Amino acid sequence: MGNFDPKKMTYVVNTVILLLVLGLMAFFCMLNAPFLVYFSIPTIAVYLIGYFLVYKNYLQAYVRMVYMWITIYMCLTTLFLGYAYGFHLYCFSMIPVLFITKYFAYRLGNKSLGAFRVSFVIAGLYLLCTGYVALFGPIYDRNQKYAAIFWILNALIVFGFLIFYSHYMINMVIESQQRLIEMAQVDQLTKLYNRHYMKGRLKELAKAKHAFLAMADIDDFKKINDTYGHNAGDDVLKAVSELMKQVCKGCEIARWGGEEFLIVTNENTITDGIITSDIVIKLLEELRAQVEAHPITVDDQLIKMTVTIGLTEHQEGQRVDDWVNAADEKLYQGKHQGKNQLIY
Ligand code: GH3
Ligand code: MG
Ligand code: MG
Repeated sequence: MGNFDPKKMTYVVNTVILLLVLGLMAFFCMLNAPFLVYFSIPTIAVYLIGYFLVYKNYLQAYVRMVYMWITIYMCLTTLFLGYAYGFHLYCFSMIPVLFITKYFAYRLGNKSLGAFRVSFVIAGLYLLCTGYVALFGPIYDRNQKYAAIFWILNALIVFGFLIFYSHYMINMVIESQQRLIEMAQVDQLTKLYNRHYMKGRLKELAKAKHAFLAMADIDDFKKINDTYGHNAGDDVLKAVSELMKQVCKGCEIARWGGEEFLIVTNENTITDGIITSDIVIKLLEELRAQVEAHPITVDDQLIKMTVTIGLTEHQEGQRVDDWVNAADEKLYQGKHQGKNQLIY
């Protein structure tokens, strides 16, 4: 919906409806249905006023007027010609249109159009008109030669609309849900999982036979911030996160705090299903070396960075909090022993 222009789109819709009205007016002439011909004159006026309302940005007034008029138009054509023409079928598409308009009104920050209540009005009018025709027949009992063509055309349009409408709406809901889930689980700066999501995952990850948890912390990060600025600090966070993703494929990685990360892996997450402490140690040693070997450049300044990592394997029956604390202790030990190292 990036470049959705409601105004331009409304002009197009208004023109299409106006052309349809003109075509139908000619058809009513041919059918010798004078009332419907005369009724087409205020209808044309309505759509001409429509251009003016859209031009003046009175989109809500325009939408209300058009919905009301289309409903009246459907009712009258049904009453006069009977339902053999299928004009009443549009009632079924009017209702989803009302709700989708409500949605767009919401997206554009406008007031809702009362889609729920108006739907009942449309359903009621539909029953009245078709009921009248069922009991007394159409007001004009004309040659029904062209009725089938109209019926098929109108039914196709209504079906087509309903199918594409439903398809579009559901895809939009799924997409928006996926976006929300992603936003709830992912840290926006580093695109790693966030703390909230990882907390929920740890219990599950700990269930494996062999599960390893590493806590990695960027060394002297405060100094990086103080020396190069907060934005440079953010770039360092992103660069380290990218390296973790590249090196620790098959791990679940989260930003646990400011410049602190959890890297968790077990035989289910790792690609070939084989996991030993030697494999994990090698992996994390590689990560530590890669971070050290890849300083970043910000504003022509080379920023060196290193990480200290504490690693622990999950012990049978160990609580998740204790598992994290155990890794934290190793990390602390590493910081004390001079940083830029892996402790296990
Ligand atoms: P150590 O080597 O012992 O880990 O020292 P340190 O300076 O890395 O650790 P400390 O906990 O003293 O400082 C962490 C700093 O991280 C403090 C905080 O301002 C900064 N920080 C936290 N979140 C962010 C962030 O999202 N962006 C930036 N640029 N800085 C952050
Ligand atoms: Mg730190
Ligand atoms: Mg820290």
